[in-house]
Amino acid sequence: MSSELFYKPVTELSSLLEAKTVSSVELTQAVIARTKAVDTKVKAFNSFDEADALAQARASDERRAAGQARGPLDGIPVGIKDVIAVDGQPLTASSKMLANFVSPYDSTVTKKLKKAGAICWGRLNLDEFAMGSSTENSAFHTTCNPYDLERVPGGSSGGSAAAVAAGEAIVSLGSDTGGSIRQPAALCNVVGFKPTYGLVSRFGLIAFASSLDQIGPFSRSVEDAAITLGAIAGHDPLDSTSFKTEIPNYRDELKKRKGPWRLGIPKEYFGQGLDPEVAAAVEKAISYYEKMGCEVKNVSLPHTEYGVGVYYIIATAECSSNLARYDGIRYGHRSKDAKDIIDLYFKSRAEGFGQEVKRRIILGTYVLSSGYYDAYYLRAQKVRTLIRQDFLNAYKEVDAILTPTSPTPAFKKGEKAANPLAMYLSDVYTIGVNLAGLPGMSIPCGFSKSGLPIGLQLIGQPFQEAELLSIANAYEKAHDWATITPNL
Ligand code: GLN
Repeated sequence: MSSELFYKPVTELSSLLEAKTVSSVELTQAVIARTKAVDTKVKAFNSFDEADALAQARASDERRAAGQARGPLDGIPVGIKDVIAVDGQPLTASSKMLANFVSPYDSTVTKKLKKAGAICWGRLNLDEFAMGSSTENSAFHTTCNPYDLERVPGGSSGGSAAAVAAGEAIVSLGSDTGGSIRQPAALCNVVGFKPTYGLVSRFGLIAFASSLDQIGPFSRSVEDAAITLGAIAGHDPLDSTSFKTEIPNYRDELKKRKGPWRLGIPKEYFGQGLDPEVAAAVEKAISYYEKMGCEVKNVSLPHTEYGVGVYYIIATAECSSNLARYDGIRYGHRSKDAKDIIDLYFKSRAEGFGQEVKRRIILGTYVLSSGYYDAYYLRAQKVRTLIRQDFLNAYKEVDAILTPTSPTPAFKKGEKAANPLAMYLSDVYTIGVNLAGLPGMSIPCGFSKSGLPIGLQLIGQPFQEAELLSIANAYEKAHDWATITPNL
């Protein structure tokens, strides 16, 4: 790994900060300078507020000087996906609808990060309202994959993944509804963690599909993911779906749990459409676990083939309802030439939303409409239960499930933009995890011959994030993929 400050993990930086070898202001300046140097190429950010970041860094240094440092994240710049509210900062969802919106409050996760001393750094690009797999649906610009600027970084949290990969943030937050943390993590050679549904508060996250959305971290190491997850997890009375559960010290758990584990390989995730280089890298990772003494066995998730269909019914149904609030009245884009109130709704929404968002609102309205509700939405909910049951059955025999994260490495910009179905299929391995509400993560597990990153997906049991992180950590400790940084 490069010796540059902006490429170091939290674990190392926090020691440097503690020893006062480096100040948070110096670190933040290094990240700002790096961002200015490379973001004209990578385009991970929608905006950033240098003065605000440096003010947070100065406050961190003052705390430390007074002996009041708050833990490993104190003074560390954390990039934030532009769909998570940060008090006083723009909150656009990469949509024209919210292009001029400034958040009047903090989300629970940014409140918790600030409490841990972290510096909320910049607004990271995404597919509009988190709908997409490439950031090409952003109303502002497409983020580029740092490993090949002609290719996409994945999505929807493409800005969050690319920023960590390019040294423009030390860790970042994204959101994952059908794969939006894990798929871009795989395509950008970083760790991406999607927690169990209900572990992390959604308060202050712009809602896409509320029964699927979860916030989680991107990082350069599993231990950094454990640290960041620990800071944002926990019950929140402001989110009625947040779960009351004890949050262990995930970082300490990594040191205690050494395996060997029982790992399941679902044959349904290794079929048609899987790129041979991805298959080879994932199989090699699986054989590492076998060599370290894990019991690796085949499991079956028989309803996998329905995952994408079920997801695009449930997610669109929920999005059509969630996005009804953007009516041009209370906030967001308001059309300038409306004749009356109905015309105002119509024109504000027609002008404010992009094509993919409109497609999903229309689909979602259709599957919820009377006469079609039972045939689509209700049936999809039943199949969703079967998909969750598949995983729970498999967990009678195994501790975790290993699969590829994405069927292919990063694809070229424009390659799938005109074909929504091809784009939807890039989430075929990640969607089931959201439908079942499980924790899932992607870790780097190799590169294609042309130098594109490949990710291994690890899927855990509900609320067993400590176990999942430990399994990932065991692989990471024996491999050094994360040290291969992009040539920018
Ligand atoms: N790519 C999927 C979609 O387009 C998942 C997005 C997400 O997880 N936010 O809906």
